[in-house]
Amino acid sequence: MTAESELAPVLHIERELRHLSVELTQPKLGECMHCYVYRMLEFGCTGLRWAERYRNLKAPRATALHRRLMSKGAGCDCEIFMNGWSLRRTYQLWDPETEEYSYPEELPACRGVRAGSVQPCGLWTTHYRWW
Ligand SMILES: [Zn+2]
Ligand SMILES: [Zn+2]
Repeated sequence: MTAESELAPVLHIERELRHLSVELTQPKLGECMHCYVYRMLEFGCTGLRWAERYRNLKAPRATALHRRLMSKGAGCDCEIFMNGWSLRRTYQLWDPETEEYSYPEELPACRGVRAGSVQPCGLWTTHYRWW
């Protein structure tokens, strides 16, 4: 057996995975940046990788995105949700035991935004409006 033929199945799997991850990390039609980034956090947080990917693919003209996110305290994708925006309470689940709201396992479907926008859809609200 040559080295090449030993590697062939591995390379094939890698190619499959790469294809799969491209599919999985594609913003859906009309999906807002926030719903997209939230969905992608399942794959981990590395800086503003997902926000940037969304911007590059869907809103290349939103050049102030970084500054806008930073001004909300979001220096990376997960901080968008820790510091910047949260799911409206209407869409969160109330746990009477802990007396806390929590996010449902699966978010409601994105309410949609117009193409080229980096605004969140109606599911999200900025933190300060909570109080
Ligand atoms: Zn993060
Ligand atoms: Zn959305």
